[in-house]
Amino acid sequence: MDLFVCAGCGTELSVPVERVALPVEAHYGGGHRWMPPLMEPGTYAVDPDPWARAWLTWEEIGEAGAAALGVHAPVHTVPTGPRDGIVLAPGDTRGTRLLPERSGPSCLGVVAGDAPNLVCAGCGLGVGFREDDCGVWQTVRYGPEAVVRRSLGVPPPAVPVRPLPPIDPEGGWDMRWSAAAGAALARLLAASGGRALKLPGGLPTELFGRSVARLLPAGPPFLTVGLAGPGLPGGDADIVLVPADRRTGAPWRPAGDAVPVPLPGPVWAHLVGPGETSPTPVSGTLPAQVLRDDYPLPEHPGYGFLPDRATLRRTLSRMPEVRRPWLRALYDRI
Ligand SMILES: [Zn+2]
Repeated sequence: MDLFVCAGCGTELSVPVERVALPVEAHYGGGHRWMPPLMEPGTYAVDPDPWARAWLTWEEIGEAGAAALGVHAPVHTVPTGPRDGIVLAPGDTRGTRLLPERSGPSCLGVVAGDAPNLVCAGCGLGVGFREDDCGVWQTVRYGPEAVVRRSLGVPPPAVPVRPLPPIDPEGGWDMRWSAAAGAALARLLAASGGRALKLPGGLPTELFGRSVARLLPAGPPFLTVGLAGPGLPGGDADIVLVPADRRTGAPWRPAGDAVPVPLPGPVWAHLVGPGETSPTPVSGTLPAQVLRDDYPLPEHPGYGFLPDRATLRRTLSRMPEVRRPWLRALYDRI
């Protein structure tokens, strides 16, 4: 576990936190709606990409300049701010003061502006940015030069993977699923080599089927897509949807030469889970696994699922493979 302190005066700026991979939904834009904290309580992530101002247009930065910042296909603007920002849940931070007058242009709350809007309560050093506005995840982002990470020498607690249902409490498709599918679709497209894909039935087809039908040729022949992960070998599929490591984001490695496409652990756990179970414990004489039929059907949105297009484009634009002409042509169509 780690603890962050002010680089100027040593004031503690966080509770003990565990480093995890930056969630794939970190750059999801939620429109005009309230967004929860990005990070799970007790965790932090380091964002390796340049972040925020100054933003340069594709014409201003040019192809070589963008590639140096990890962007390999045209995007509207490229952030050129500092790399390695430390992202935390606001509730895990301590010892800061918010200067709302330093907010950038926002709607109902505060967003990052030119200068840090969070300062150390001990010495006044600008230590980072608090964002809490419609359409952006609630985050605190400390500048890597403004804080010092102290290792506490204590291992983080074991955290079981909890399946994340695809439907949010309001009855719509969960935005974490939309973003996860956008990122995974980018890697599915790259792994396809431009060939047709045969998806597993059920939820994977609901997630990717419409996009794959629109962007890739119809088979046969097909490359087959399967599910693989701990306890699930994946059979002989050419491409397998696997869980990403919670701490590193690296895909679980299947045996053989199937190409792994990572999904966040909670999304993958739901995909391979047992499916619908009764919310009412069955008792008395009903046999195990028999579902009662006197409760409402599970929620299902009245609109089809689509992977988040912005996450799809962002992920593709940051994959060097997008320079291949066939994939670049697909990117330009999205
Ligand atoms: Zn300080």
